[in-house]
Amino acid sequence: MSDRIENVIIVGSGPAGYTAALYTSRANLEPLVIEGFFWGGLLQQTTEVENYPGFKDGIVGPALMQEMRDQAERFGTKFLTDQATAVELADEPGGVHKVFVGDDEYRARTVILAMGAEHKKLEVRGEEELSGRGVSYCATCDAAFFKGKATIVVGGGDSAMEEAIFLAKFAEKVTVVHRRSEFRASKIMVDRAKDVANLEFKTPFAIDEFHPGEHGGLGHAVLRNVEDGATEELPMDGAFIAIGHEPQSGIVRGQIDVDDEGYVIVQGRSTKTKRPGVFAAGDLVDHTYRQAITAAGSGCQAALDAEWYLRDTPEVPTPEGMPAGDLAEAQWAPTGEATTIADVGE
Ligand code: NAP
Repeated sequence: MSDRIENVIIVGSGPAGYTAALYTSRANLEPLVIEGFFWGGLLQQTTEVENYPGFKDGIVGPALMQEMRDQAERFGTKFLTDQATAVELADEPGGVHKVFVGDDEYRARTVILAMGAEHKKLEVRGEEELSGRGVSYCATCDAAFFKGKATIVVGGGDSAMEEAIFLAKFAEKVTVVHRRSEFRASKIMVDRAKDVANLEFKTPFAIDEFHPGEHGGLGHAVLRNVEDGATEELPMDGAFIAIGHEPQSGIVRGQIDVDDEGYVIVQGRSTKTKRPGVFAAGDLVDHTYRQAITAAGSGCQAALDAEWYLRDTPEVPTPEGMPAGDLAEAQWAPTGEATTIADVGE
């Protein structure tokens, strides 16, 4: 364990995490981002992003995340490309928080939680066993495996439309299976999907089960008409589940309040959690908007909340008497050099 106490640790690396990193690094707080094994969050799995301001011709998700990461790095953000596995959050103002990556412990005066959300599962028979063998949660990643095949996309939101339109470039046929006859997706996305020749809709149907075919991969699904309860088998090679997301709040539950769906609860319009010095942003908090731009905006808010907290909160001395990062060094007139985290880049 290093003796260093960071000013800010940011857990997560979507638009919220990288924007928090940009703002805190520009404030000379030298943030450490624990970005997960697969940095960049869910936007790494999307294709064209047409609604992020500043890119009039659109930009693909992975390129947008690379830009955000590079921009944060430019101002001195440090990255640890590994998974945060646990936290130990102080409950007194000025206390030191701990974030664990396996057996390694990282400490900070403030923590910004930006772990985002993950794909929701249907939780039906056969889904888990056939995951990776026909059942997928990411058309951008897996569509190319389904050239000339029969596929379905499950869901009725923008993600389902986007996945279906992309998949239709590869698959022979795409059927969007949705449990209602109305779509949650925006009209523009539904209209685009309707214009695709090899894409059709099947509503109102729920998936009850997935079954393997003779080859061991996905063979068919059992669909149930939600209105009359009648079931039918639909043969298919691939099924893409696009039914929304679940907040990744597992490592903080029990220490931070979450709502019934697992979203972290923050105070009023701020990003403050109930723990002093711990802030939360992005899809981890937001049931409603869940856009790249709103996540980025709340990452900015969390960075400002953290900066103001560090400015206004006297530090509780640690057993080692070590100062925090640069900001605290100025306040504490430290007796020794703070140890830096060695080689925590990619
Ligand atoms: P979403 O808007 O929450 O839609 C989820 C869909 O899955 C809904 O149609 C829902 O059905 C269905 N669903 C949920 N649980 C289900 C279950 N257990 N079984 C069957 N169906 C289920 O999620 P999203 O599509 O991932 O979109 C999330 C956010 O990202 C939205 O704000 C969206 O606008 C945004 N987004 C935007 C774009 C874009 O603009 N290009 C692309 C992707 C996502 P019900 O409708 O019946 O509840």
